[in-house]
Amino acid sequence: MGVMIYTEENKLDQLEEQIRALDQTTRAKIAEEEQKAKKESKPFCLRCANEDLVNGLTEIKQRIERATIQGTPLTDAIKISLDMDYDSYTKMKLISVTPYTETKLVTTSKGEVVKAKIPTSYFEHYACDRGHVPMKLELDPEEYKRKNKVKQEEVYEDIVETESVKKGKK
Ligand SMILES: [Zn+2]
Repeated sequence: MGVMIYTEENKLDQLEEQIRALDQTTRAKIAEEEQKAKKESKPFCLRCANEDLVNGLTEIKQRIERATIQGTPLTDAIKISLDMDYDSYTKMKLISVTPYTETKLVTTSKGEVVKAKIPTSYFEHYACDRGHVPMKLELDPEEYKRKNKVKQEEVYEDIVETESVKKGKK
């Protein structure tokens, strides 16, 4: 979003139109950044992003209002732009990890087929430093391993219960 500078010959409604456009493009950008973070298995605080958007727009509106009340013509440049630090919304603190388990048939290294509770996904709980409620990021075991550089065997350490299943039983 480029910086737009307005001079006195511009009308107030033109400024308002630009604010609406800035609101829309920023919302689209927030959604895009949120998706990008999700693809990279990174948390993203949507509440922080929305807070900054709303506060930024309010500030611009207040600046215009002040200039209008003071009778200052809008000759003093009013910038219709926001300084959003999208990267900062992914800087969240990991609070805990909870594996979600399901009972599945797995073959052990000895070739034995067993019924085991294995993690099918992991929930990472995050909180941002503005104190927003912890967000939950769901990762499948592959993503979890890639992200935490865990070996296959270690993932299956979470097996909590096994039961032998006889082969060829009718
Ligand atoms: Zn936040």
